Amino acid sequence: MRAIVAYALHSRVMPELPVAPSASLPPSLILTLAFAATLVLGLLLKFWLASRQIRHVARHRSAVPAAFTQRITLEAHQKAADYTLVKARFSLLEMALGAAVLLSWTVLGGLDALNQWLLQALGSGMGQQLALLAAFVLISSLIDLPATLYQTFVVEQRFGFNQMTPRLWLGDLLKSTLIGALIGLPIAALILWLMGAAGSLWWLWAWAFWMGFNLLLMVVYPTFIAPLFNKFQPLEDESLKARVTALMQRCGFAAKGLFVMDGSRRSAHANAYFTGFGAAKRVVFYDTLLRQLSPSEVEAVLAHELGHFKHRHILRRMALLFALSLAGFALLGWLMAQEWFYSGLGVRPSLAMLVSGVPTASNDALALLLFLLVVPVFTVFLGPLFAGLSRRDEFQADAYAMAQADGADLASALLTLYQDNAATLTPDPVYVQFYYSHPPASARLARLPASTPSPA
Ligand SMILES: [Zn+2]
Repeated sequence: MRAIVAYALHSRVMPELPVAPSASLPPSLILTLAFAATLVLGLLLKFWLASRQIRHVARHRSAVPAAFTQRITLEAHQKAADYTLVKARFSLLEMALGAAVLLSWTVLGGLDALNQWLLQALGSGMGQQLALLAAFVLISSLIDLPATLYQTFVVEQRFGFNQMTPRLWLGDLLKSTLIGALIGLPIAALILWLMGAAGSLWWLWAWAFWMGFNLLLMVVYPTFIAPLFNKFQPLEDESLKARVTALMQRCGFAAKGLFVMDGSRRSAHANAYFTGFGAAKRVVFYDTLLRQLSPSEVEAVLAHELGHFKHRHILRRMALLFALSLAGFALLGWLMAQEWFYSGLGVRPSLAMLVSGVPTASNDALALLLFLLVVPVFTVFLGPLFAGLSRRDEFQADAYAMAQADGADLASALLTLYQDNAATLTPDPVYVQFYYSHPPASARLARLPASTPSPA
């Protein structure tokens, strides 16, 4: 992204200066080169990180780290190492495939071919625009399908995490496709309409609408959409309920309800979350979590989640998301009026629209897709910044949990969760800097009181 912005400033601020040979390249070629170079650079970086992680985990596979010998068996440690290695190796393949697919859509002409074909078949108009978006999503999902299947039914299966039957998996796929179409198509139509009808500040309107939709989704999702996939039952364990209610009162929270979700239907991975706004807040425990942790450990885990609210992490993340989206929409608003944005990325736009404003065929859906495809290539390098902020939040939430509940309980809960999720205790430190949204076990436990060894 920096390359594009730098170019933009350059071309606006100094158009009359004598041009150096490199500056006389057509802008579309500069974009193609910047895109290709950034893609390769990002790919090299990601390969380097993954190979570091693979080497580091493999090197530490033979012994449990000294700090954990009391609680973690060698067998569990090696299972975590193997799970991490399998996932990291598979990610190498996915990265290579992802880059090939991205190049095929863009500079190799995939998106252009799809667009031209749909223009011929449907003519120009909103129908064609929506068909382009839908066809793109459909084709992308089909391309991702083998990897998704492999992950669920081979990797997760091999390590005993997968609980899904092919039938349930297919049901989920159909349901989410249907819901995606029912919600996504009207939203897309509205954004495309704004792009075409709201004038040069369309992106401001579209951004406001998109943010409103996101807020609405936060209310609608837990109450209407999540129950389509899982069963939510009120927490029945009275003593746990009393503990949790007392904790929430202590911390100044009112929750609308405490629920247990049948997470075990799909996966053995455990979790808990806290959703909703204001008075509609609800706490959801995965049944897997309640099975693996003692009541005092569950309390400590919930105290950690409450810590995120108390420290306003959720609000801050939302504010950041709002700001980044605004920047994204503004950038798209500018880019979509530039011919080189399309031609530099392998797409033929409808030129009449750009030059004279005469509506032949709209480029809006094309611009949207190109933007969504290409932006991640340039934002990869921001990974350490966001991961670092997130890890800082986790430490703060841990500290809050330590003040409101028992730190030793949190420590033992974390250790159980790290072990049950087969999270490696020995990740590569540089890989952690880049990708880990949560600090590794050793770093978190070092700040908590020593956990008591679990009863044998
Ligand atoms: Zn957290």
